[in-house]
Amino acid sequence: MLDILIRSGWIADGTGNPRYPADVAIEGDRIVDVGRLDGAIARQEIDAQGKIVSPGFVDAHSHSDWSLFANPTAESTIRQGVTTEVVGNCGESFAPFTELARTHLTDRLALYGYDGPITWSTFGDYLEVIRQMCTSANLAWFVGHNTMRVASGVSGATATEDQLRAMERFVADAMDAGALGMSTGLEYGAGREAQTPEIVRLARVVGSRDGYYASHIRNRDAHLQAAVDEFLSIAREGGTRAELSHLNVRHNTGAAEGAWQRAVDTVERERRRGLNVLIDTTPFLDGLGMMAGILPAWLLEPGPESATQQMRDPAVRKRCATTATATGASSIAVSGTACGCRAAPSFPSSAAETFSRLPS
Ligand SMILES: [Zn+2]
Repeated sequence: MLDILIRSGWIADGTGNPRYPADVAIEGDRIVDVGRLDGAIARQEIDAQGKIVSPGFVDAHSHSDWSLFANPTAESTIRQGVTTEVVGNCGESFAPFTELARTHLTDRLALYGYDGPITWSTFGDYLEVIRQMCTSANLAWFVGHNTMRVASGVSGATATEDQLRAMERFVADAMDAGALGMSTGLEYGAGREAQTPEIVRLARVVGSRDGYYASHIRNRDAHLQAAVDEFLSIAREGGTRAELSHLNVRHNTGAAEGAWQRAVDTVERERRRGLNVLIDTTPFLDGLGMMAGILPAWLLEPGPESATQQMRDPAVRKRCATTATATGASSIAVSGTACGCRAAPSFPSSAAETFSRLPS
């Protein structure tokens, strides 16, 4: 007797074949037959009449890893049929960890509902902690460049030779532990200060292990094309396969007419020349991101505590409103705050207005 029989669904098997009506037989955790299984009997029958039966979906860009400690079952994705998630994106992973990163990581973990001890150090240790939690989805990992910068004590634009070597070791360790490669988040600290040669150097470690470079690129507004060109040069010089994450252009933030199409054309041209690069995108008209990404470098450079302190000063906020990255934005919607409180409710407004209305 079968364990499960899914009856009369439309099979969309993910191979690109047209869908067809069939039953699916399952024993244990294996599909043992697909077809017209009229005489079959099972402990559990599921009537899928009029429904599509398909393998699990892959989410190529997710941040579920940030909230796994508080929400290991990640039901918001598994219940949509997403069974594999690619995580560690946008330069942010919770490993590797060193004492230099204690404040940073403790804050980030707290932000996503975890205030327990940090029991890992290497990327491999961290994956073991996650494995023991028994998550719902299969997870494929990137190690985050921002995380590695913090863990090796880099602040500002230039990493020392020792710090670069430490980051190279972090990449190698992570990939030896099973990571797909490295992600960057070049709109956010601490990666946004990094120069291209630093990233190329780390990408070479990724390339030497046949890994992937995934990038939340430096700019998706007025300087989109330069950011795309930088992404391509890192993939080329690093010898990596590469994924340009969430290629969106935000509205009214200074991007030239047709900038998105030109970015896509550039990537297509490089693909034809043999570079193994891909793009993913989101199905939204607006560009998503962490609001810290639009704050000017002069405010963020001394660190988050200093930035928070300075932002209490109305004069600083006024200066932010004219020098922030997205000053041309006619519409910014704040969808949530770091503390999870409703102190800054959602409101669509211009960049200047947003800064003036943030709570002090
Ligand atoms: Zn991102």
